[in-house]
Amino acid sequence: MSYKAEYIWIDGTEPSARLRSKTRVLEDGAELPIWGFDGSSTNQAPGDKSDCVLKPVFSCPDPIRGGDNILVLCEVFLIDGTPHVTNNRAKLSPVAEQYADQDSWFGIEQEYTFFQAGRPLGFPETGFPAPQGPYYCGVGADEVFGRDVVEAHLDACMVAGLKISGINAEVMPGQWEFQIGPAGPLEVGDHLWVARWLLYRIAEDFNVAATLDAKPVKGDWNGAGAHTNFSTKAMRESYDAIITACESLGAEGKVEEHIAGYGHGIEDRLTGLHETAPHNEYSYGVSNRGASVRIPWQVELEQKGYIEDRRPNANIDPYNVARLIVGTCCAALEKAGQV
Ligand code: ADP
Ligand code: MN
Ligand code: MN
Ligand code: MN
Repeated sequence: MSYKAEYIWIDGTEPSARLRSKTRVLEDGAELPIWGFDGSSTNQAPGDKSDCVLKPVFSCPDPIRGGDNILVLCEVFLIDGTPHVTNNRAKLSPVAEQYADQDSWFGIEQEYTFFQAGRPLGFPETGFPAPQGPYYCGVGADEVFGRDVVEAHLDACMVAGLKISGINAEVMPGQWEFQIGPAGPLEVGDHLWVARWLLYRIAEDFNVAATLDAKPVKGDWNGAGAHTNFSTKAMRESYDAIITACESLGAEGKVEEHIAGYGHGIEDRLTGLHETAPHNEYSYGVSNRGASVRIPWQVELEQKGYIEDRRPNANIDPYNVARLIVGTCCAALEKAGQV
């Protein structure tokens, strides 16, 4: 018997990458082969040297096709065997490996916005809907737009075996969130990219487009983020380690370095309004949704747990964010002798 493998990869679109995929029919029992694609059609190669290589790194059941069919997430390589410049997963691997004994966990809250007919789902043909207020975690046809798509996506992620931990309606109409985690640095990125692919694919059947645009509507409408919750073994055991991690993210040079890797257009979203902190001022605080990094109230109460970096944009590459956070926080914890 044979089955279908949907090979999925991250392309070279600027300023934020897109997902691409194509189908390969495989015989039962064979190992997943490497494969190739035309990099000149994905901003990953010039036309005269167009061949790029797909190497499978993560696979799971395909909840859309069902049966024995699978989804296969791939890293992109050049034909000489070196990682493609757009391959951010390959840049995370050595950092994750270096600090593997600190046992980092991530939980990423992926916010996104549905669009139909050129405007957010739920927006009237002209003008704007009633101001923000009732939509977040709302219920009812006047407050909620696209729930059928969101429910189908949640079911699909669960059937695929992804570590999806929840969903909620967001502050702006047509805006939603799902969370992936807790999971390790590479795993959270793998599961998030596949969950994004499933979101686009399922919304396609509803004639809706999902976007990760960080500020889809200008003005008094919330942007879309990817709050990144983070802990190490030491942070799950001690409040001193929590504080060390918070301080390390505000250290000299680190604020700019992290902001640069936290997604395109971050200055437009981190304005200091709409539950954000200004992008150029670092702060952390307990329960504070106006801080760069929030310590959840239970974490202060229990004196251990995790922190929430609220700065990453919806359009992040999670591999970059994990590399930055592990690199900064784990190095600081090690230096402080708190591992
Ligand atoms: P918020 O209250 O900010 O909306 P969510 O409930 O949407 O938070 O998301 C929190 C995320 O953090 C979830 O994905 C959850 O699995 C993850 N998480 C929980 N505990 C930890 C931990 N110790 N380390 C890292 N992530 C965690
Ligand atoms: Mn959330
Ligand atoms: Mn949210
Ligand atoms: Mn959050």
